Amino acid sequence: MKRKTKMVHGGITGDKVTGAVSVPIYQVSTYEQPKAGQHTGYEYSRTKNPTRHALETVIADLEQGEAGFAFASGMAAITSVMMLFKPGDHFIITDDVYGGSYRLITNVLTKFDLTFTFVDTSNTEAVKEAIRPETKAIFIETPTNPLLKVTDIRDISKVSKENDLKLIVDNTFSTPYFQNPIPLGADIVIHSATKYIGGHSDVVSGLVVVNSASLAEDLHFIQNSVGAVLGPQDSWLLMRGIKTLGLRMEAIGSNAQKIAAFLNDHEKVNTVYYPGLTEHPGHETTKQQASGFGGMISFDVGGEEKAEAVLEKLHYFTLAESLGAVESLISIPAKMTHASIPRERRLELGIADGLIRISVGIEDSEDLIEDLKQALK
Ligand SMILES: *Cc1c(COP(=O)(O)O)cnc(C)c1O
Repeated sequence: MKRKTKMVHGGITGDKVTGAVSVPIYQVSTYEQPKAGQHTGYEYSRTKNPTRHALETVIADLEQGEAGFAFASGMAAITSVMMLFKPGDHFIITDDVYGGSYRLITNVLTKFDLTFTFVDTSNTEAVKEAIRPETKAIFIETPTNPLLKVTDIRDISKVSKENDLKLIVDNTFSTPYFQNPIPLGADIVIHSATKYIGGHSDVVSGLVVVNSASLAEDLHFIQNSVGAVLGPQDSWLLMRGIKTLGLRMEAIGSNAQKIAAFLNDHEKVNTVYYPGLTEHPGHETTKQQASGFGGMISFDVGGEEKAEAVLEKLHYFTLAESLGAVESLISIPAKMTHASIPRERRLELGIADGLIRISVGIEDSEDLIEDLKQALK
């Protein structure tokens, strides 16, 4: 099956009993047992629910892994993955990870004696140098937010295999349509399915896919023990989102390429960050490991006031956090998603005060470009 076909026909589809074409929403917590101690495969919905199971099956299929798991949010997914480890374990992690992951790591996980070194993972040598005897995993996000820095998944997977480490990839920005880290050597793939997979700004959710039966067994134990599971309604919404994920990503990627080119040529725009531009440092690596450049673009207009003025004049870009939806969204990282990072550190990371981030939607590119053109004037 090719990718778009898999999104429609992969995993579990429909309902054998009624012929329903979509998987029913099993709004149920418990299941009648034929005899005490015997069950149909379903005992209690924290452990397993048929709607969630159908979603978990299709995401495992899309990411070419052994098993999938659905959680109540991307953060619940990341937390549950971290519970695979134990006090004293050390991680190497991408230095400009998603703000929520940074907060979880620095304020919560360190209380359980997990330790972390933040590294520019786009530099493989820097990753190698950060390895310690107690290092157990490398956690990368690629591309990153908001500067779209790209890490070479194959290179890092070589390092992780040589040192017997697990490689965890937050694949939210690329989606399973454009990038599959498991065939590139990753052990665990994480998605904030709130973003492109759901795709319609209407559900908060997280997905994980693992590459082995033993990781599947361990993560299922944690999912059932911790209980941060996704409900059946939301599981259904994600399956509906997945059916059009390929179409949406094609539209979003094509819009983004045109918008990035427009911004790149605009006299009032300084730097444009988009992996689809040939001058982007991650352009070649992206071509080797992904089939598209995605829908996130950041660009610098040279100051906070200018950035705010641009945002005020736009009609089709909704000022909001989050990303990955059918509607185009826009934000100023320094004032929004990255406001909790001290300004000095932000500038060190390259997040200028005048940096604007857009999550390109599926509108007509002509309208989006016209809108940006009048706002930049
Ligand atoms: C949004 C996001 C998360 C967190 O997901 P939630 O669904 O908001 O909990 C994690 N990683 C990345 C890259 C994200 O964009």
